Amino acid sequence: MATCNQITIPVASRDNRELPLTTATITQIQFNKKERTQIALKTFGVLMALAFATFFMPIFHFVLVPAFFLASFVFGMDKLEEKVRNSGGKGECPKCHQQFTVQGSKWVTRITNNCDHCHEDLEMTLPSLEEISGLSSGNAP
Ligand SMILES: [Zn+2]
Repeated sequence: MATCNQITIPVASRDNRELPLTTATITQIQFNKKERTQIALKTFGVLMALAFATFFMPIFHFVLVPAFFLASFVFGMDKLEEKVRNSGGKGECPKCHQQFTVQGSKWVTRITNNCDHCHEDLEMTLPSLEEISGLSSGNAP
């Protein structure tokens, strides 16, 4: 079963660097190898089904069939290697101090969002995978 952790991350404004940092709480999902395989096969299957479905569309099939065929391998492999995901959360805006929604994303070092209220351009830093304890168990089958 996927492991979920609540992680608190710093929030900074990209437009007003002098504003003090606030925090956001996001949910981090760690997938084990079995779950990653299931997600990858599902992605592969859906894109491969689209490749077959678009085979019957005149003219478009020249582009769509090879595109979905290649995408099924590319995105399938991508999902197979995704060990950790940010599933989003809530944070406090440094400018208007209201709650904003953090969108889910891949686990990258830096994510950006806009405040739901004042549309301030916000930047959040996620901890690297080495900093997250217990991740090594995610490599086990
Ligand atoms: Zn705001």
